Amino acid sequence: MLRSAALTALLAACAPPPAEAPRSTPPPAALPPAEPATAPAPPAAAASPNSRDLAASPLPPQNAVAATPPAIPELAILDRPITYDAARREKTITYRQRHQDPAASDITIDPKMIVLHFTGGGSLEGTWRYFDRPTVERGRKIIARAGDLNVSAHFLVDRDGTIVRLMPETWMARHVVGLNHLAIGVENVGDAGRYPLTAAQRAANVALVRHLLARFPGITHLIGHHEYLAFEGHPYFQEREPDYRTRKADPGPAFMRAVRAELQDLPLAGPPDRPSAPPPRAP
Ligand SMILES: [Zn+2]
Repeated sequence: MLRSAALTALLAACAPPPAEAPRSTPPPAALPPAEPATAPAPPAAAASPNSRDLAASPLPPQNAVAATPPAIPELAILDRPITYDAARREKTITYRQRHQDPAASDITIDPKMIVLHFTGGGSLEGTWRYFDRPTVERGRKIIARAGDLNVSAHFLVDRDGTIVRLMPETWMARHVVGLNHLAIGVENVGDAGRYPLTAAQRAANVALVRHLLARFPGITHLIGHHEYLAFEGHPYFQEREPDYRTRKADPGPAFMRAVRAELQDLPLAGPPDRPSAPPPRAP
């Protein structure tokens, strides 16, 4: 299929696999303990059998449902952490100071958004190796100019729906301009051409979003990477460099429609209903 250079650039991978494979596979490392799952709230204090308040009127039945915390859906997640050593921490803090908050001093985020992506390739292994490098590749000029912290994500979803966690959800990954300080990134192995996203990936994304929302009730938004520019001007969007905007097409409106169709019962907003402010810079 013929494809123009411009289109190819537009559809460029979020994480193009490296041209060369690394000489060796890094040894498996234990994933640092993630933040504990939100503990279910204790049930409303039950009156003790000896309580003098036994005669007090109980909660009306309609309140009983609202008071029950949502169960955290069971989900198989493989932990395969990428390198997040002292150097990556330092690069992450430096990135935060430059782009989000000059006073930033740590890598911790309070998740308020989930951003879905596709990787731009067909190999989980290639993307894992790419993300494993703490330093961005120089060839990605717009991104490299904005800082040497490499891109990554919290999750990779393989084409068969296997979910792999690369880092704790409460650590910052660089995957979406302006929103990294509050967004969990989910990368799907695939692209808009040779490797279209699969039904198994759609189901895995739906299950993962449900799981994450139950663990992090502060999450308010679910978006596709291609929708992020609509947050320009929103309180969530914090990017100190007005010229640093990337143009993204992943994962595409069809995938987002399909995922959202199965999540209509969740209190998750999409992108703000407003035109994105400045036109994106040419790639
Ligand atoms: Zn992306």
